[in-house]
Amino acid sequence: MDGGLIPFDEAKIHVLTHSLHYGMAPFEGIRCYKGDSGRSAIFRLKDHIRRLFDSAHILEMTIPFSQEELIKACADVVRANHLDECYIRPIAFYGAGEMGVVARSNPVQVAIATWPWGAYLGDDALKGVRLKTSSFVRFHHNSMLPMAKTSANYVNSALAGYEARRNGYDEALLLDVNGYVAEGSGENFFVVRDGVVRTPPLMSILAGITRESVMRILADAGVPIVEQPFPRDVVYIADEAFMTGTAAEVTPVRELDDRKIGEGKPGPITRRVIETFHAALRGRDIRYKEWLHFI
Ligand code: PMP
Repeated sequence: MDGGLIPFDEAKIHVLTHSLHYGMAPFEGIRCYKGDSGRSAIFRLKDHIRRLFDSAHILEMTIPFSQEELIKACADVVRANHLDECYIRPIAFYGAGEMGVVARSNPVQVAIATWPWGAYLGDDALKGVRLKTSSFVRFHHNSMLPMAKTSANYVNSALAGYEARRNGYDEALLLDVNGYVAEGSGENFFVVRDGVVRTPPLMSILAGITRESVMRILADAGVPIVEQPFPRDVVYIADEAFMTGTAAEVTPVRELDDRKIGEGKPGPITRRVIETFHAALRGRDIRYKEWLHFI
């Protein structure tokens, strides 16, 4: 925290921490996996830290460390916690000081925490999850700036996530202001029909690093992949659908709005993506070696 390694229980902040009040806190979610060789590696660490700096730049926040320093710090925190598999959460935020909406003189603080984290969408997620189109609309890219992964943007995600789970679904699917499919509360979204994979363009969605990894895996496998807007009924009649995210990894989707998608179970392209993605994370597929930051 702020440049030093401190015990978990001492990682404290003041109640007047500016970002706690106004949501300007760019953060990342990263996973570290134990590879087949027995060595642990952080998945796409450089890309996550780059996105953290991109988020801060969008928010006009200057992080008082370099990207190289935070890359090293993430690896140091994983090592210090003796974790061979974990989730890593770097976060930058305005500390206590002035209390107006615009923080002109507040210090920018940076913390990195790690903890073990299993299946995000439940232990049965690999059989396929059930989604409900949310009553909450994903924000317009001129209001909340979805390229920035900042704490405030997660109010929209949390509202949608609570609603879906309260109504008995595993996750929400949010539409954008034009009614096209955007993403889940914490996952990007893909559909497959007649062998062609579609995913929404980078408008009202986070530029997911898993999304990008999956697009590369599909391209390498010769599967056509297009970024294009589509409405919810394209999902109803899809052969397959899946979601991607650091926490959710690649999760098959078996239903949207109580309509079965395809056979109602993970389809062949989804299964192939999952297999290659896991081979990449565990260092089994050398084509993706550059995605691994060994610790
Ligand atoms: N969309 C949202 C809203 C998210 O919170 C996440 C998780 N970071 C994603 C998509 C997936 O992004 P990534 O693959 O980089 O984790």
